[in-house]
Amino acid sequence: MKVVIIGASFAGVSAALAIRKKHPVAEIHLIEKQETIGYLPGGINRYFNKTSESIQTAEFISEQQLIEKGISLLLNAKVVSMDSKQYIVKYEKQGATFFMSFDKLILATGSSQWSQKILGSDSEKVLKYKFLPGVLQAIKRLERSDKVALIGGGQIGGEAADMLLKKGKEVHLFERMDYLLFKYFDEEMIRPVQAEMESRGVVFHFDEMVEKAIDTDEGLLIETKKSKLLCDSAIFAMNVRPDLGYLDESIQTHTDQTVFVNEYLQTSQADIFAIGDCIQVQYGVSKDSFYIPLVNNAVRAGLVVAQNLVEPTTPFVGSLRTIGTKLVDYYIASTGLTEAEGLFHGQSIAVAHVQQKSTQFSGCEKICGKIIFEKESHKILGAQLISKANILEKINTLALGIQMGQKLEALYQKDFLYHPYYSNVIDITNQLGFEGLWSDTDEN
Ligand code: FAD
Repeated sequence: MKVVIIGASFAGVSAALAIRKKHPVAEIHLIEKQETIGYLPGGINRYFNKTSESIQTAEFISEQQLIEKGISLLLNAKVVSMDSKQYIVKYEKQGATFFMSFDKLILATGSSQWSQKILGSDSEKVLKYKFLPGVLQAIKRLERSDKVALIGGGQIGGEAADMLLKKGKEVHLFERMDYLLFKYFDEEMIRPVQAEMESRGVVFHFDEMVEKAIDTDEGLLIETKKSKLLCDSAIFAMNVRPDLGYLDESIQTHTDQTVFVNEYLQTSQADIFAIGDCIQVQYGVSKDSFYIPLVNNAVRAGLVVAQNLVEPTTPFVGSLRTIGTKLVDYYIASTGLTEAEGLFHGQSIAVAHVQQKSTQFSGCEKICGKIIFEKESHKILGAQLISKANILEKINTLALGIQMGQKLEALYQKDFLYHPYYSNVIDITNQLGFEGLWSDTDEN
């Protein structure tokens, strides 16, 4: 079996390694348009925060590791078209054109940062650093910038604000909604983080959509309907999008230009699969599919595609949009539905808040938690955690509970370790279940 994978990032590499395990004698070819592989998209923050020596070491896999597994890696090779009926892809490398046949093809070409809505967003002063070449440019330009605008207040914008504050820059953050990280947190949960950022100097421009980024002799002019701001550079921190110009017409796409796949990750041609940032995934809480570009989705889809390559056996369970990060001393984590999103959920929802001190081991810091659940059935739908103690891993327990369809009754009874120094008498995840149940009972 000859498997060709286009794109050697999280999804493509995960698929290649899993296919190698499941099919030890398969011929596996990874085709990648960049010169290098494995760069971690948040690597620039690690570099500026000095947790990474050089930007090149912020990588999750090396070429050598793939070669040792007998996976052929074609770098600097861009797939420009395909013929899904003839089972052939066409790629360009160093000005020449080549063809490669396949038995199974996996599209893992991910996404990049571009917008047709913001005039001038392709300016080189609007920094995009998903991939290594962009990072190298961004590092140079940020070193020379005093005043930086962030376009977007999601995870990328939040982390960029944190990093720039540490570098002593003047930071302006533009966000079309009225608070930070709205996809993942309800306003009251993220408020302390926002207040801390503001007290450290971030100027928030909420309810402002950037319309233009105009390159002038004096600098970069950022324009919204409400204001204009002259700055030295801007960071593009908005949604990423797939770029699928190489597809042929027999591969169906959605209106947002993602590739259409079934639950087994097969495209409209059964021997061609698509994974990672170029597809929509089922949102685990609502069962509708959405565009949720996250590394964890890309990696898990890579594992699942290996299972389905020869025979469709394993449906992809989709995503709960689980995230976690650290901003201005706060660890923040979220999974599943927010209360604000609950308006669109088919059933009535209820929420409960919990405050707990973290362990002696992690400094007895306050942990704030929130759980969102179905009012009638008590099925857990979402959770959010914020603390100055590192509680990030706890969100994974809550995500698993949601993925398994658990109810509050099961969550508060789940097993947990107890140790006087390393844990609390009741784990926050259990307490969220209990408080949810109790507050609900109390109301009735
Ligand atoms: P990609 O990483 O986009 O990789 C696609 C690959 O395909 C690329 O290497 C590209 O060069 C190659 N390619 C594309 N077209 C062709 C072609 N025609 N021929 C050959 N090769 C091609 N997610 C998280 O979960 N956690 C985070 O902390 C996080 N931080 C992020 C920070 C930033 C700044 C950004 C922009 C994104 C971040 N993300 C994060 C999102 C994450 O980067 C993506 O979800 C992830 O990279 C998707 O992996 P992928 O393999 O599907 O696609």
